[in-house]
Amino acid sequence: MTTNPIRIVPLADGMRAMAPATPPKLTYRNGALLQSVKVFTLFWGKAWTTSPDLVKMAGQMNDFFRYVLTSPLMDAMTEYNVPGKSIQHGALIGTANTATPAPKATVKDASIQSLIQKLITKGTLPHATPDTLYFVFTPPGTKVVDGKDASCSQFCGYHNQATAGFFYAAMPYPDCNGCLDGMPAFDALTGTTSHELCEAITDPVPGAGWYDDANGEIGDICAWKFKKLGGYTVQLEWSNKANNCV
Ligand SMILES: [Zn+2]
Repeated sequence: MTTNPIRIVPLADGMRAMAPATPPKLTYRNGALLQSVKVFTLFWGKAWTTSPDLVKMAGQMNDFFRYVLTSPLMDAMTEYNVPGKSIQHGALIGTANTATPAPKATVKDASIQSLIQKLITKGTLPHATPDTLYFVFTPPGTKVVDGKDASCSQFCGYHNQATAGFFYAAMPYPDCNGCLDGMPAFDALTGTTSHELCEAITDPVPGAGWYDDANGEIGDICAWKFKKLGGYTVQLEWSNKANNCV
């Protein structure tokens, strides 16, 4: 058993088996919120610059961020404003590709954190602010491992605060049924990305922002329930106010 806060997108199969035994309700734990999130996307591996399909998808993911960060999805997050902290629209502040080092077949979370740190030092990535959120996308065929958990086995993505203090999300390429749930890869990726984005905004230090001890973060409660927004697949998120996934 782990006592770590939940901060992953689980596999689709696992979620269908689960029924929320405890009625969901997020409570605020006095920690940080990302008030006006500044997203920087990092596409790791040369496939993102050499495969026409992946080049296209990377561009589409950036378009997705440009849209969603000023969309009604962000407006919905204002339900979780607290005195002194108000959630506003965010922005995509930049994007980069890196192929150095090349991602191995298995990439550990520590390698993702140190890659971000290295690229900040190098100037490829901007320095972190309290609102900065780095999104790292790994290429097809790369398995991401976080502790005992692995992509396509336990999760389809996660967000966290790095040991060095910055906020980031790791998004493995959805190349398994558990992370596709019958959708095209791009739709699956925008869906899980929206899950992690909303969680990183409302609970950037996992378990220290808006959290539910029984059911996890804002996206966990509604995992694998989607809607279309601006033509994109986004995940439903838990609303305390509506007492439902919206
Ligand atoms: Zn989650």
